[in-house]
Amino acid sequence: MNNEESNTLRPLNFEEFIGQKEIINNLKIYIQAAKLRDTSLDHTLLVGHAGLGKTSLAYLISYELNQNIIVLNANSIERPKDLIITLSKLNEGDILFIDEIHALSKNCEEILYSAMEDFYINLNVKNDLKKEVIRFDLPPFTLIGATTKVEDLSKPLLDRFSINFTFRKYSVEEITQILFNASKKLNTTYKMRALKLIASVSRFTPRVALNYLKRINDYSLIDNLKYVDHIYVCDILNKLGIKNKGLKDLDIRYLKMLHFDYDDKPVGINTISSFLNENNKVIEEMVENYLIELSFIRKTSKGRVITSKGITFLNSLHKKKL
Ligand code: ADP
Repeated sequence: MNNEESNTLRPLNFEEFIGQKEIINNLKIYIQAAKLRDTSLDHTLLVGHAGLGKTSLAYLISYELNQNIIVLNANSIERPKDLIITLSKLNEGDILFIDEIHALSKNCEEILYSAMEDFYINLNVKNDLKKEVIRFDLPPFTLIGATTKVEDLSKPLLDRFSINFTFRKYSVEEITQILFNASKKLNTTYKMRALKLIASVSRFTPRVALNYLKRINDYSLIDNLKYVDHIYVCDILNKLGIKNKGLKDLDIRYLKMLHFDYDDKPVGINTISSFLNENNKVIEEMVENYLIELSFIRKTSKGRVITSKGITFLNSLHKKKL
């Protein structure tokens, strides 16, 4: 049910796909040209943080080209054989979407080299006691890779994507528009100020914004509201533990630790992790990346330091609610 719901909020055409204008304008040209040439679209790499719309765009490409889409996540491709089976079942023009493509094993990557470049794979077969390598031709297809960690992609694989798009974060206005469209699909009326408030805590990421919208929708359903205003949204966000700028309890504890416990001095990652009782990866990826983006902290050679902007934010927390 949950998946169903998130799928219904996915954009169904380019008009519903808000923002990323540069990507969309270029993509429309490449799709049109592929159609005119009657060839498959060139292999396409979508780079960007989680929740920015890479999967949604892959689906849109398949709708626009009117082609079948096969979806894989590189983390769940256990053996090269699994990838070979999928490739060998492809039909002409199919779109193969591999999410988190940086997580592919070296062996799987190597299979993709010839599949992408010349549309064939080498199969190892045993014939009587002999081992043979047979060339297996594939129909022309389009590989769409999505990655949150482009730096982990090997150069040969990267070079085989002749189309390469990097997603940027969305503006508050764009997120508000995405929320407005989604609220219509959810059959709930939101005041514009209420949607703007949700957008302001979304970390500029559609998935985060839509998840909050869905939770607020749950509450409004139970409260039997005709429309949702910003005061109601503010109340629910507080219940969800969402602070100004979309910060959560762990982010606030992080900032308070640097400011109050370490007197604004640099602190190393291991000390921070053990103080907050989390592992380094969670602290770096879930907390620090966003705090750096907000310029609330800085990484220095001696450790992490809270900035004056971070201190001002901490002080403002006592004064105002969302
Ligand atoms: P990713 O694959 O980058 O993690 P998704 O494509 O799964 O992100 O997007 C997460 C959710 O956000 C989707 O359900 C989709 O409805 C919504 N979304 C993402 N980008 C856009 C956009 N540009 N316009 C409208 N909705 C979007």
